[in-house]
Amino acid sequence: MKGVCVLGSTGSIGVSTLDVLRLNKACYSVVALTANKNITRLLEQCVEFKPQYVVIPDDTLAAEFRILISSTPALCTEVLSGEKSLEQVTELSEVDIVVAAIVGAAGLLSTIAAAEAGKRILLANKESLVVSGDLLLSAVNKNNAELLPLDSEHNALFQCMPAGYRTGQKAEGIRKIILTASGGPFLNKTVNELKHVTIEQACAHPNWSMGRKISVDSASMMNKGLEVIEASFLFNLCATEIDVLVHPQSIIHSMVDYIDGSVLAQLGNPDMRTPIAHALAWPERQSSGVSALDLIVNNQLTFQEPSYERFPCLRLAFDALEAKGTAPAILNAANEVAVDAFLSDRIRFVEIPVVIEKVLQEMPITAAESIADVINIDAEARARAIAKVEAFK
Ligand code: NAD
Ligand code: MG
Repeated sequence: MKGVCVLGSTGSIGVSTLDVLRLNKACYSVVALTANKNITRLLEQCVEFKPQYVVIPDDTLAAEFRILISSTPALCTEVLSGEKSLEQVTELSEVDIVVAAIVGAAGLLSTIAAAEAGKRILLANKESLVVSGDLLLSAVNKNNAELLPLDSEHNALFQCMPAGYRTGQKAEGIRKIILTASGGPFLNKTVNELKHVTIEQACAHPNWSMGRKISVDSASMMNKGLEVIEASFLFNLCATEIDVLVHPQSIIHSMVDYIDGSVLAQLGNPDMRTPIAHALAWPERQSSGVSALDLIVNNQLTFQEPSYERFPCLRLAFDALEAKGTAPAILNAANEVAVDAFLSDRIRFVEIPVVIEKVLQEMPITAAESIADVINIDAEARARAIAKVEAFK
């Protein structure tokens, strides 16, 4: 039995993770679950999975949850509160696997803590790698932790890497990697049409059902931009070794192009339970609940180039990767603020890249030596982005 801690268990990735754990009950015990706000869903999860601990960062909400737990028969889950508890549950000796599924840089410290505790980390929280790639990978290496990507593209790439490959290494014989992108809900919109898109339209992804932040990122293609940076750290490649290819059906999840002309791809129905089941069981295989891919039904696999003109966020991300240092952290923080402002109707969709670009232009690019540096840069970029959002009113 492997002990599992699911950070962000009430979100889209968290729920899919618990689906896979339910299906493979004999192999896993759920040690800890964490949630930010949705305590109704968290209680249902506690009743079913009986974790030893839950974390709810907010003290008041945690106190409310303690009452719910104590009035639920046969439940002795301990309720922890405070941000620090998110880190502490990853370090428990009963925990073998940490699923990092908090959204945004809010997941950074708990992911780092899991690395320092030498755990197997199933990384969905791409933002933590974007903001602190080198530091996170060195914590993984120093403490003999394992970093396995859950992001479907990176999980696909990992599966297509040579035998014995570990994340962070530079694999031999690779010409480039090809990250596929669905193109999101606005793939065929013109620059002019993009000026008038709504929050609901941005959150309605054609192929994947996901949290609201990543849905907006997919619509702006910042998600692909963040994934390019994520891939550069995970697979130790530079910007020129990473291609983005629009593939609207999301059946090929990404490809590795080898110097001998071989291109290896991983295919499957677009369902996050596949990469989750893979990374939980790796190097073994286990059921995920995902139906078999039918290529007669899915007999149109098409490809096109991404448009950097209609999706400036993708260009901003490539530029930040080339600039290196703190540029990706600034990009990420400004994006989180801009997406939040769009989701609360304070700026328009097309203003998201404008906010990010202005913040990137204002801040000098330095080298982050420590997580404390990253946190300072993140805070400064957020403050500047908030000022830019205000200016749009
Ligand atoms: P979501 O919004 O559905 O869930 C987010 C989870 O994080 C929730 O459990 C929430 O309680 C928790 N959370 C939010 N803010 C928090 C905070 N400040 N402190 C502590 N916990 C907090 O998001 P999601 O779609 O599940 O995405 C989670 C992560 O996985 C993101 O980084 C996303 O980019 C990545 N990811 C998601 C998908 C997907 O299909 N949903 C695919 C690839 C990668
Ligand atoms: Mg992805």
